[in-house]
Amino acid sequence: MKRLDLSTYGIVVEDIRHNLAPATLYQEALRTEKDSVIASSGALIAYSGVKTGRSPRDKHVVRHPSSEHEVWWGPVNVEIPEATFGVNRERAIDYLNTRALLYVVDGFAGWDPDYRLKVRVICTRPYHALFMHTMLIRPTPDELASFGEPDVVIFNAGRFPANRHTTGMTSKTSVDVNLESRELVILGTEYAGEMKKGVLTLMNYFMPKRGVLSMHCSATADKETGASSILFGLSGTGKTTLSADPKRYLIGDDEHCWTETGIFNIEGGCYAKAIYLSPELEPDIYQAIRFGSVLENVSYDEDTHTVDFADHSITENTRGAYPIEFIQNAKIPCLAGHPENVIFLTCDAFGVLPPVSRLSPEQTMYHFISGYTAKVAGTEVGITEPQATFSPCFGGPFLVWHPGKYAELLRSRIEAHKSNVWLVNTGWSGGAYGTGERMKLRFTRSIVDAIHSGDLVNAPVVEDPIFGFSVVAACPNVPSEILLPKQTWTDPDLYDHTARKLAHLFRENFRTYEEGVSPEVRAAGVRI
Ligand code: ATP
Ligand code: MN
Repeated sequence: MKRLDLSTYGIVVEDIRHNLAPATLYQEALRTEKDSVIASSGALIAYSGVKTGRSPRDKHVVRHPSSEHEVWWGPVNVEIPEATFGVNRERAIDYLNTRALLYVVDGFAGWDPDYRLKVRVICTRPYHALFMHTMLIRPTPDELASFGEPDVVIFNAGRFPANRHTTGMTSKTSVDVNLESRELVILGTEYAGEMKKGVLTLMNYFMPKRGVLSMHCSATADKETGASSILFGLSGTGKTTLSADPKRYLIGDDEHCWTETGIFNIEGGCYAKAIYLSPELEPDIYQAIRFGSVLENVSYDEDTHTVDFADHSITENTRGAYPIEFIQNAKIPCLAGHPENVIFLTCDAFGVLPPVSRLSPEQTMYHFISGYTAKVAGTEVGITEPQATFSPCFGGPFLVWHPGKYAELLRSRIEAHKSNVWLVNTGWSGGAYGTGERMKLRFTRSIVDAIHSGDLVNAPVVEDPIFGFSVVAACPNVPSEILLPKQTWTDPDLYDHTARKLAHLFRENFRTYEEGVSPEVRAAGVRI
């Protein structure tokens, strides 16, 4: 292959390893990264270092006259001047130039050829190259030969820190987005997920500009009709787990767009949580973590290289990345028809929200803008209170425009295609975290099945007195007594008290958005 010339970026390293195959990247990883090993399943085990999750507070966006009126400035999109971007970009390139060799991965973002972006990743670690080879859409040899200039370039110099004396830097980590030059510069974090979510951030800018809704959701499709379902939800709510469903086609597990013609996946791979992963509960994902996949931050047996999925000594956020075709029923190309069902997943650790409710158009807007889930307290002694998290559009950290832009696109799509909208609680039942327990995966799967079979459209419903939505009161293969959460609590007064507390948190959070929505949407969230 012709040697790749990166001098247009100021990169002068001679040895550029361009689009290496997984087997070669394995060899490179074992050769250059002292702690990389091959798991007994064949996956490549790698470590991301100090950062084992994203760093949302260190994401910066360049303020530029041509896009400054489009960006939702604030804690999600922290502005930096173009000069700061220039400093960080040069710092990254200077660091890359100190390396003896670099890896370059060229791939696509977006399965619909009308909307896809050509993405180039320049990095120092074979683990990062294999990760992005897995997560981007892999071009055919012909597509690669005619790839030309990329639309987007990711400079991953994550091993090297940002300088805290640079204007606007508050830590040694900086993930900098430049919407004009279409570049992403990463300093001070080696968490591979920053790259894939960086691509989503760019799509979240470019797609709405073209009237397309980009979404933080998973998607499946009916094998007969091709109609799709999309599952929104924040981290840990079940997007990846519930989209691995052998009864349906897998379209994708995390990032999609909804166009005039249907939906498409942005990615070429999936990135599953690996904590407590078991072949019994999640057989499709378990078998996908094999040769060609990356396993991050897991512990393993020194002798057998068997992975201990229950070990969270490095992080709770252990992950496996695998090409989407490793899931047997993945549909390639990852495109499907308009969503018949839109599912909002929430992991309510207060144990208040029902396992499944149906939402009106106004409730849909209210809950989409709210983006509620909860986090259970860490492992600190004595802390048992769950923490509510609200993240607009179920993906606040990756939004570029104001949430209202995505909400309006969703509203008009749902209206045009008459999609049913459901709120599904994959969190606690029988009491809050500490008293109750997490909803059985088997029951959540049955609920999703019943949504897809159409059984729930005509199921009996009860109006929730506090939240106003229609609580589904009967569902095949789910015991009726768990469908109405108050019945599962030993202390009904405590249930009411906790529900009111959660309703109050919803109201507090929604204040910032009240002015931008209709009175109907404002009234659709909480009744009390
Ligand atoms: P991210 O955006 O970080 O990728 P995600 O929404 O894809 O998050 P998953 O990877 O699907 O989240 O994680 C859900 C986790 O919760 C899995 O580890 C799954 O096994 C576990 N889980 C337990 N009970 C349930 C349930 N009832 N429904 C869904 N997931 C459940
Ligand atoms: Mn996921």
